Amino acid sequence: MPKPICYSTKAYSTPNATSPLGPSSIERRKPTDSDVQIEILYCGVCHSDLHFARNEWGFTQYPAVPGHEIVGRVTAVGSGVKKFKVGDTVGVGCLVDSCRTCPECRSGLEQFCSGMVMTYGSMDKHLGAPTLGGYAQSIVVTEDFVLRMPSNLNLAASAPLLCAGITTYSPLRRWKVGPGQKVGIVGLGGLGHMGVKFARAFGAHVVLFTTSPGKVEDGKRLGAHEVVVSKDPAAMAAQAGSFDFILDAVSATHDINAYMALLKRDGTLVLVGAPEKPIPVASFSLIMGRKAISGSLIGGLPETQEMLDFCGAHNITSDVEMIRMDQVNTAYERMLRSDVKYRFVIDMASLR
Ligand code: NAP
Ligand code: ZN
Ligand code: ZN
Repeated sequence: MPKPICYSTKAYSTPNATSPLGPSSIERRKPTDSDVQIEILYCGVCHSDLHFARNEWGFTQYPAVPGHEIVGRVTAVGSGVKKFKVGDTVGVGCLVDSCRTCPECRSGLEQFCSGMVMTYGSMDKHLGAPTLGGYAQSIVVTEDFVLRMPSNLNLAASAPLLCAGITTYSPLRRWKVGPGQKVGIVGLGGLGHMGVKFARAFGAHVVLFTTSPGKVEDGKRLGAHEVVVSKDPAAMAAQAGSFDFILDAVSATHDINAYMALLKRDGTLVLVGAPEKPIPVASFSLIMGRKAISGSLIGGLPETQEMLDFCGAHNITSDVEMIRMDQVNTAYERMLRSDVKYRFVIDMASLR
């Protein structure tokens, strides 16, 4: 593919795994026939941005621009674009393209396509360089990977739905969480607080597990019927063998065997957290009670739109703390201390 015509846009990037993020200028392609150009208004700060910026998963190429909870306004569309027009309010999540032809793509599970193009850290088919994410003034994305934002929701508080929202919505739907079930959510961060809201909205009995005693009241306000401080052995023991399903959204290595013990026979624990280091699993955690561990990765495009529409219909958004672009490095340090209530969102006007 010939290199397209490009333009420059302001961004925040990092040159290596140890430096803080700072201002820079990056290139985006000018919209082709099928592209949508978006002025980014807000971008959520996901813990994956931090793992990626610091190369904790081992595939980061530099300079790197994180950010995959993008909401904004359409500023231009290619001549073949049908779904969007200038002025529309739209979102972009973790994916910006895929092969479109494999069984995963045809099933609407683009996140499992071997040719998926992530919003940052993949190879950009147009530019022949790594994709650069949403800590930027603008982005250009093919229309099939652009989402419609519900018009009734606060836009800044909706940005985290594009990753934290779909990543928790998808497994709760896949394992059919609903009335009559007891469901655990582990970790009250960006993902965890959306997991609590969705599990509650789906009608389950929701128990939040947190390492932070200071989050107990918030956990209840966000929708948990019970909150357990996981450092309290007696409180953990009281929950033994009682859960149908547990969603683990913890960003660091921790003892998941302690949670396996809380599942009923045939119960499932789904990991969405992606810590840098492997998590040990005792075989007795699985064989006693025929229990299962699975994982889940964001969600495909159709399910992401379904989730956004569900949030519009049920008035669900994230609880966010707005920051300026130049506060992102401090936000990362606070995220590492579990000091987040419950998603940082960058006001991109601060970059202009
Ligand atoms: P976050 O906002 O930083 O929240 C993580 C929470 O985990 C913390 O607030 C804390 O909750 C708990 N925690 C942190 N360190 C812990 C430790 N050592 N032991 C026990 N609990 C600890 O992170 P996030 O943005 O929600 O992301 C969570 C994880 O999911 C990250 O690893 C991220 O990369 C991953 N992720 C995966 C997908 C996917 O598709 N699978 C998508 C997005 C993100 P408490 O204070 O309540 O204990
Ligand atoms: Zn994310
Ligand atoms: Zn595919």
